[in-house]
Amino acid sequence: MLPKLAIIMPCYNEEEVFPQTVKVIGALLDDLIAAKKVSPKSRICFVNDGSKDRTWELIKKAARKNKRIAGISLSRNFGHQKAIIAGMYDSDADLYVTIDADLQDDCSAIREMLEKAGEGCEIVYGVRDSRDTDTWFKKYSALAFYKLMRLLGVNIVYNHADFRMMTRRAVDTLKQFPERNLFLRAMMPLVGFKSDKVYYDRKARPAGETKYPLMKMLGFAWSGISSFSIVPLRLVTFMGFFICFLSLCFLGFVIYRWSVRGTIVGWASLVTIITIFSGVQLVSLGIIGEYLAKIFVEVKRRPLYIVDEKTGFDD
Ligand code: UDP
Ligand code: MG
Repeated sequence: MLPKLAIIMPCYNEEEVFPQTVKVIGALLDDLIAAKKVSPKSRICFVNDGSKDRTWELIKKAARKNKRIAGISLSRNFGHQKAIIAGMYDSDADLYVTIDADLQDDCSAIREMLEKAGEGCEIVYGVRDSRDTDTWFKKYSALAFYKLMRLLGVNIVYNHADFRMMTRRAVDTLKQFPERNLFLRAMMPLVGFKSDKVYYDRKARPAGETKYPLMKMLGFAWSGISSFSIVPLRLVTFMGFFICFLSLCFLGFVIYRWSVRGTIVGWASLVTIITIFSGVQLVSLGIIGEYLAKIFVEVKRRPLYIVDEKTGFDD
């Protein structure tokens, strides 16, 4: 039996690129169905993540025209990760592909992903081979981030973003992860099973602007680190021990000075020590607070996403 494929595309204010996306991904799905690689019941599922522009109207219109297009509209902006989750959990399929709606990731790699799935892979990661079209800053900050994650002991596939194929079994397993702080690219390796990689070139955005400005990107990176690594907390402890050791040495020095020559209180050294140590203390408290905030979010158990409207799902 041919597998039923669901291509999940999160969309946040994507009205500029949407018509082109529908054309490209629609043609790809038609091809796959014609080539008998996937079931004719396969769907493209656009998730409108609380867009403020006409994205949802465009999705509804596309779904009316093409029965292979479906849409889910969330009640507000939940963020990229939760939009992907909404698409996967609210549509029924044997194979799921998640891919950005801006066509930056080469969707023809889906063919190769299908082959790997045919060989028994439960998760196939799309890996960016080149990043020539990204800005210098984006490219190197992203690479530094992957390196840092590895250093902090998080298993993350190098240069893989959220373009991947998953079987129903992998998605069902993911559902057992109850966390609210989502960072899918580090969660999928925890799901495990047989997996493989498919390489592709990352292209420039054909239309519209990035929905990940610098601050949002940094926030996402920190969220990934703090959800998956306790190394920053441990560093705080090490820092504490190290500073205690330094203070003991300093104390020895002070006693020595006091016994030999009597103490002359130096304003400069005192101020320096106070400022440095209060800085270190504040940073340490901040890091602990960040983790506390994560626990706070987790214990509230709020829904991951809220669906407002659905279209094109009635088979
Ligand atoms: N996106 C989303 N919700 C958000 C931000 C982004 O659903 O709050 C979607 C966006 O529409 C796109 C994908 O996530 O399909 C990736 O965003 P973008 O291309 O802007 O990020 P970049 O590729 O520049 O990192
Ligand atoms: Mg993009």
